[in-house]
Amino acid sequence: MDIQIVEVSPRDGLQADPADVSTADKVTLIERLVHAGHTRIEVASFVSPKAVPKMADGDAVMDGIAHLRSGPAIFSALALNERGVERAIAAGVDEVTGVVVASETFSQRNQNATIAESIERWKRISGAARAAGLRTSVTIAAAFGCPFEGRVDPAAVVRIAAQLLATQPDELALADTIGVAVPTRVSHLFDEIGRQNVATSDRETPALRGHFHDTRNTALANIAAAIDHGVTIFDTSLGGVGGCPFAPRATGNVATEDVVYLVEEMGHNTGVDLHALIQATSWLEGVLGHSVPSLVARAGGFPVGQAAAD
Ligand code: MG
Repeated sequence: MDIQIVEVSPRDGLQADPADVSTADKVTLIERLVHAGHTRIEVASFVSPKAVPKMADGDAVMDGIAHLRSGPAIFSALALNERGVERAIAAGVDEVTGVVVASETFSQRNQNATIAESIERWKRISGAARAAGLRTSVTIAAAFGCPFEGRVDPAAVVRIAAQLLATQPDELALADTIGVAVPTRVSHLFDEIGRQNVATSDRETPALRGHFHDTRNTALANIAAAIDHGVTIFDTSLGGVGGCPFAPRATGNVATEDVVYLVEEMGHNTGVDLHALIQATSWLEGVLGHSVPSLVARAGGFPVGQAAAD
């Protein structure tokens, strides 16, 4: 089966890393990701530069990768309001992504909006992006748990999903933003949303995507469970960069190379070259000035042609 990897390190990853990465290094990172075979990369966010100074150079990053834009890769950017989507369109992105948070407290603290307000915002963002001929995808954040409210009711997530599916996005993602999900809950929620998806869509059915965090070492198990339930698209971050903001020393985004190793060894196809990823991670550690959580980057891929020493 083909498993599609959406590489989020240039945006979701670097945004949460303590290092300040130059525009030139962001461009080099994206070049290396494309070289490794990535065809979908989240490259920027067009949100308030005051709120997120690390992402203030979105336009410059898009200019820097102009030479890659005639190639096979699709470049996406996050927008959280109309101004953001206008900037994303002007910068030449292929896809606009949005976020709706599944818990009311987290939504108001993180998005400065109620859940209902952020669904309305997404409708305007997605309408503008689609009018410009761009792909759209929307993520339900904290879909499995919230740092303020604890467990999130799956029925509430399904209700939000129904409203978002009505906007006919190309994709709907479920994000385990604080890394609390386990395979049984992942299977259950994707099954429920899948049923909703079929029931709501009068056109082509939007694809479902998983965004898992490795905060409690469950991301790979969750991905394997999601694949068993028909999900074939996953967000991952090179080296696992992008810690969880609510648990400062904990791992956040699952590492791309760990996921590529897992799914390729399971017999699936990602189209991404593991060796090139490991080299890119080594380069990225130099740029960031610290090591990254990926285990496969440290251990390497499956050993080739060497007998066990003992
Ligand atoms: Mg993330």
